[in-house]
Amino acid sequence: MSTVSDISAAVRAKYEPVIGLEVHVQLLTATKIFCSCSTRFGDPPNTNVCPVCLGLPGALPVLNRKAVEFAGLAALALGCRINTTSIFARKNYFYPDLPKGYQISQYDKPLAEHGLIAINAEGRRKNIGITRLHLEEDAGKSLHEGFAESKEKTAIDLNRSGVPLIEIVSEPDISSPEEAYEYLTRLKEIILYTGVSDCNMEEGSLRCDANISVRPRGQKHFGTKTEVKNVNSFRFIRQALEYEIERHIAVIESGGKITQETRLYNSNEGKTYGMRSKEHAHDYRYFPEPDLLPLVVDEKWQAELRATLPELPEVRRPRLVAEYGITEQDAVVLTATRSLAEQFEAAAKAAKNPKRVANLVQTELMGRLKAKGLEIGQSPVSMKGIALSADLIESGTISGKMLKDLYDLCFERGKDFPVVYDDEGRPEQSRDTSALEKIVDDIIAANPKQVEQYRSGKKTVIGYFVGQVMKASQGKASPQIVNELLAKKLS
Ligand code: ADP
Ligand code: ZN
Ligand code: MG
Repeated sequence: MSTVSDISAAVRAKYEPVIGLEVHVQLLTATKIFCSCSTRFGDPPNTNVCPVCLGLPGALPVLNRKAVEFAGLAALALGCRINTTSIFARKNYFYPDLPKGYQISQYDKPLAEHGLIAINAEGRRKNIGITRLHLEEDAGKSLHEGFAESKEKTAIDLNRSGVPLIEIVSEPDISSPEEAYEYLTRLKEIILYTGVSDCNMEEGSLRCDANISVRPRGQKHFGTKTEVKNVNSFRFIRQALEYEIERHIAVIESGGKITQETRLYNSNEGKTYGMRSKEHAHDYRYFPEPDLLPLVVDEKWQAELRATLPELPEVRRPRLVAEYGITEQDAVVLTATRSLAEQFEAAAKAAKNPKRVANLVQTELMGRLKAKGLEIGQSPVSMKGIALSADLIESGTISGKMLKDLYDLCFERGKDFPVVYDDEGRPEQSRDTSALEKIVDDIIAANPKQVEQYRSGKKTVIGYFVGQVMKASQGKASPQIVNELLAKKLS
């Protein structure tokens, strides 16, 4: 990562970063927010358009009930209070991809307010406030390349114009780039649980603008903020914030002033660049949208929404810990997505020892996934497969070594555990004591020096014997039986 200048750790420590995030999430409705055009991504440009989303004069918006429902679900999942009455407002500005000359959004009466996301800040729980969650329409998309021979031309695709969004604005409660990353991870996790968005950053379904300022530690009032826009991964947001913090401090330390502005992050260079001076709310001349009635989400509707909320990760984690005896860390991994959590629970209920299922995820799955660059959702071994392997270990049918070999084969072949286990002829570890006894006797006879060490009190050499016996049995011996036999014969 590049830095602005060499700010010493001591200087850096004098300042406290203050961060607030504005996140736009695209809702998974089939049709747009104010017309019945399709929201499908990737269709040929300007094929999903009509007079309403083209902004033709006289066309009237009609609110999509599903969009309200989805926004309401997200609001409840984020602990927000839904306002019974909220108001749509026109946000006026000119941009080529905004044919109406205004965006329909919500301003002083948003759909929901006063939420929070709990994050893990260096091992401690910290609540980040959510100021508001409001509904709005997306603008179109300007394409600057890939459609014509000349790069100096820009084309407009209005398929995205009118796609429903929610904007989630955080309080300036975030104190480090790491916390910002945590906040976004938890936010995405919660939204995915509700199923109201796919949160796909590559397709622009989740976009984040990061506001950042610094102030000398102990100072009450905030410093001047800058806003970094359109960063397309959580990792880049963290990097952009790290860069901005150093830049702010360097400017202030050299006697300069931060100007309030919007900046862009260049991820190749690891730097931000000033784009334009920040516009203020009054520049937008907000006023209530005259073509739409106030939005009323009454108590009854709110209760209906609440009833369809799934169990959220924040609640699910402690329950999994209590119910299945797994660790906090296990629970974090296993609740990363709703589908994973549900699969784990199904597998854990069916398995003899649920704790072992969770252990195997950590010991056998995570490392192998990481080596292949796979997410847990892309694992060749399913939760069902892990449950079978856990049972085989639990019953002593296979040894730990055999289990590891079978997992290796699963990842080599891209096949699930039950399939590989069958393909390998359902191997079993040897518990044939007489055959093992013979091996043990041979190993003891071949290693008189170690036998003497053992008998003169150096009990740890038993490990050496276990290793030799396991090797001679090609990993098929039950370590428990080998240990018992060796202890008996050596003493
Ligand atoms: P604006 O009107 O400039 O858009 P808002 O008050 O709407 O500012 O806040 C936008 C985002 O910036 C919010 O997430 C808020 O928490 C955050 N924010 C506000 N002031 C600061 C500041 N001084 N430093 C960092 N973030 C801030
Ligand atoms: Zn339309
Ligand atoms: Mg704002």
